[in-house]
Amino acid sequence: MAQEYPTQRPTDLEHGSGEESIPTELNSIPWIDIHNHAQTLSWNDREKFTLSGCESMVMMGAGYYWTPYKPVEPEDVRYLWDDALNRLPQIRQSHLLDAKVGIGIHTGARVKDYDQLLDVIPEYAALDEVAAIGEIGLTEAQHVSGWSLEEQKDVTRRQLEIAADHDLPAILHTPADLEDVEFPDRIRGNIPGYELDLSLQQEPVLTSDYPKREAVEIDVELKDDAGLPGDQMVLSHMDKKIAPYVLENTDCYLSFTVSYPWLLGVSPTDVAEIVAEYGPDRILVETDSAGVLRSDIFAFKRTILEMYRMGVDVEDIRQVVYENPRELLD
Ligand SMILES: [Zn+2]
Repeated sequence: MAQEYPTQRPTDLEHGSGEESIPTELNSIPWIDIHNHAQTLSWNDREKFTLSGCESMVMMGAGYYWTPYKPVEPEDVRYLWDDALNRLPQIRQSHLLDAKVGIGIHTGARVKDYDQLLDVIPEYAALDEVAAIGEIGLTEAQHVSGWSLEEQKDVTRRQLEIAADHDLPAILHTPADLEDVEFPDRIRGNIPGYELDLSLQQEPVLTSDYPKREAVEIDVELKDDAGLPGDQMVLSHMDKKIAPYVLENTDCYLSFTVSYPWLLGVSPTDVAEIVAEYGPDRILVETDSAGVLRSDIFAFKRTILEMYRMGVDVEDIRQVVYENPRELLD
């Protein structure tokens, strides 16, 4: 082998057991981001999706943090939905992305007179551009204006019913588990990289020792009440600690948010470990990237490569990042 080169000394290759075949298809696996807020990003950030192999995405039109008005009025929420829908054609065209929109009432801040919104969501759900009801689901503590658990359950259940009626998937956030999160690089303030005044957070309405699991349990009950099949519901912001519970006790999809580990603590290794242990069937990956927090869009592609390095088969990786979301979104 080495004799074609002028230097005829053995190399590492000749001491080793030979070259491993490189699965070059990893470089071209398309992926789908089922949960982001890319309509709130810059052109340059959206370009990163295309550059790193994203084929399709669902941009959540819901986001209390994107409207500065609190308590949130129904027209504030309508503005967010319509803004995402109206930007959609240019985003699709400019970035060559099969983007769609998620429509929903976020529970991160109380929304007044939310009945008015529930009345019109079915009209949005019927649009071709709308691929999901989201993001919805219980929130542990609201920003500026608190929302009782009973009302949050009501608004969530009724949106899950709309998802069931329209045969759409529902994307549900789950509370961040900040128990073990440390911010070693920040002395001042405990949430770096988030445009949110934490002093305005209200008292938690989920009060157990483990609010993330409490929220998951209630959300799953609401899904059953609403008659939405498990394979049409995604629980977002999964992590290594909650994933086994969800995989063993529910029939929902789990989605790992990989683009801001500084807050959620999810690494590509965590995703690989869960896929290795439980198989790829109900696992998804998402960026949840939004203009209000520090996030890394390339983390999605990095997760694909890292899963391979961690020993996950190429076929399983492809299922997690492409086939599963495709099936979910039909
Ligand atoms: Zn989100």
